Parts: sequence; C-alpha cells; structure tokens
Amino acid sequence: MGQSRTTALIVAAGRGVRTGAATPKQFARLGGKPVIAHSYHALSSHPAIDRVLIVIGDGQQQSLSEALGDVDFVTGGATRRESVRNGLDALAPDAPAKILVHDAARPLLSHGVIDRLLAALEHHDAAMPVLPVADTLVTSDGDTAGDVVPREALCRVQTPQAFDFATLYDAHRRWPSTRDATDDAQMVRSMGGDVHLVRGDLMLEKITTAADFQTAELRLGTALQVRSAQGFDVHRFEVGKELWLGGILIPHDKGLSGHSDADVVLHAVTDAVLGTIGAGDIGLHFPPSDPRWRGVASTQFLQHAAGLVAARGGVIDFIDVTLMCEAPKIGPHREAIRANVAQILGIPADAVSVKATTTERLGFTGRGEGMATQAIATVRLPSPSLP
Ligand code: MG
Repeated sequence: MGQSRTTALIVAAGRGVRTGAATPKQFARLGGKPVIAHSYHALSSHPAIDRVLIVIGDGQQQSLSEALGDVDFVTGGATRRESVRNGLDALAPDAPAKILVHDAARPLLSHGVIDRLLAALEHHDAAMPVLPVADTLVTSDGDTAGDVVPREALCRVQTPQAFDFATLYDAHRRWPSTRDATDDAQMVRSMGGDVHLVRGDLMLEKITTAADFQTAELRLGTALQVRSAQGFDVHRFEVGKELWLGGILIPHDKGLSGHSDADVVLHAVTDAVLGTIGAGDIGLHFPPSDPRWRGVASTQFLQHAAGLVAARGGVIDFIDVTLMCEAPKIGPHREAIRANVAQILGIPADAVSVKATTTERLGFTGRGEGMATQAIATVRLPSPSLP
C-alpha cells in the first residue's frame, strides 16, 4: 500500500530578504492569500498526491499556522539542500513511492504541470519542468559584452521536480556535506540518474524581488475567474431565545429560533460562499435533522464553506450583507458584525459590508415575526481552462 503513494514536499524555509519586505516572501500575500497557500492548495487538491509536507525555517511555526492552519511540517536547515534532507528524513520511515519537491517561491502551480511530471516519472528516475530561453545570451565582463552563448542547448529549470523517492533519498545521503546543490535534479543526475524534461509554465516563475510580486499579481489576475453568488435566510423571532447576528450576541427582548444558533446573517453568508463554488446549500452540509448541529455556533458553518473555497484554490474578495428587520437597530452593532464575519473568513474588515433596512412594516419582517438576511459573496477561482 505504502509503495503506491506520492508525497509533495514544499520547501518554505527561506527568509526572503531580497523582496525587501519584513515578512518572508512565502508568507506575504499574493492575490489575497499567503504565497505558500497557492502551491499548497494546488498540491493537496491533486488527486494523485496523498500527502503534503512543508519545510519551514526555525521560528516560522506561527506564520505557517496563520497561513494554512494545522498542517504537516518539519523544520529546515541552513541551506536548501539541508532543508530538503530534513523533509526526506521525516518521510523515510513511511516512505512514499514518489516525491515532488517544490519551492514555495513558485506559487502559481497548475495541475497540468503536476500531471506532466507524474506521467514522465512512470519511465524515468526524475522529471523537471523547463522553459526555453528566448533572449539572446552573451557573456559579460562588467559593462562589456562578450561572446554570444548558443541558447538552443539551454533551458530554464523550474520546480516541482519529481523523483522516485528511494533514488532522491539515496542521492541526498551520498551527497558530500561540504558541497551545496541549488536543486535536487542536479544531485540525482550526478549520481547517474536520468532526469527527464517536461514543459514548464510561465505562471510558475519564481518570486524573488518586489517587482516579481507585481508580475505574479498580474499573471494571477488573468488566470482567476471572478464569481458572485447570493445567499438568503429567514428565522422566526421567539421570546426567550438569544439573538446571534454575524456571530455577535445582540441584546434584544427576543431572539431567533431554528436550526443551530439561528444566526440568520452567518447562514445567508454561508450560502453565498457555498454558491460561488456550486457546493449546494447549508442544509446539504449541515442537515437540520442531524442532532449534531442543534444549538451549535454557526461560525463553524461559515468556516467550513470558506475552507471549501480555499481547497479549490479560491480567494474570497468581498461579502455584502443586508439585514431586514424593524428591530433591533443594527447600526450600533454594524462594525462588530463586520469585523467578526471578516475574521471568520480570514479577510480584511473592509472586505465585508453590512447594511440593514426595515421593510416599512410590511410582511413578516414588518410585523416583527422574524428576520431575513441577504448576502452576496464575490470570490476569485482558478480558471478551469488553465493548462
Ligand atoms: Mg438558517
């Protein structure tokens, strides 16, 4: 069983000083989420990959947990080679058959690249994605041009690089400790392994400088599809119940009754978020007939919906909510509701809008029998047409 498995190792141990930012680049935000989250979600959502292990730098546990929650990690070493070795050592007791080694600084990884690597690995010890060199290349001596270097025989190497696990682990164990290696394929090749080249992807360019971040944002902008979806919910007022709106307990002479804590705001927002990925509605994920959800905080419903969007590689850009009731007055609680919804979703407070209206004493809301809420969620998702 163990021999059929494929693991991905993401190397994210760098300090990222060349971007000029205080935050190491793998934890800086790109397209609304941490750089490392992009390739983590691409790898963990690929059907052929069973496990993703992340190698972080010493003291980066907090940053990792803020970026991805509770995920599998080990601590790296002083060099990239040592960091990969630490990851391989951690995997060795339950060794997978195949491994992909990826740099977190190449966030925009598509399933197409992973598919090409795994297909090549059926017939080779290793495979790596490469791009042709388009520019004319010359040697230089300071400001003076030297000879033209023929570019036909050159290519640019990207990650992930894919390996038979035993071959890569053996190469790492035999590699002289005094000698550094900039990538893993180089080590396997120097031990006599055969490294196959597959087509790389311009989206996979490495982020090194602040300008690279801007280029990556532009590439991402064209690769993501914007989607909006709505949610709507109603609950009945009942004396003796608590009134929860957007995860905030609101003082009032009655509360809402129903499934869970009857938080009409979080239910509408949850349905809107689920709608953006066509994942059905809240009742499908948390059936009212299931006693597990009786009286629970609706916060967990919204966290679940946000997790499904993240697993698709999506980013939640904006939430707009309209509450409909005669009372209580929402104005005094608006900022608290806004901040709490934003916090549950892990987005900035200014990416959530909370509005309220009466219905001019008309209908069930006008008579004070219940409350209604409408929500719209806007997300960006990786386009299905990506190679
Ligand atoms: Mg509801």
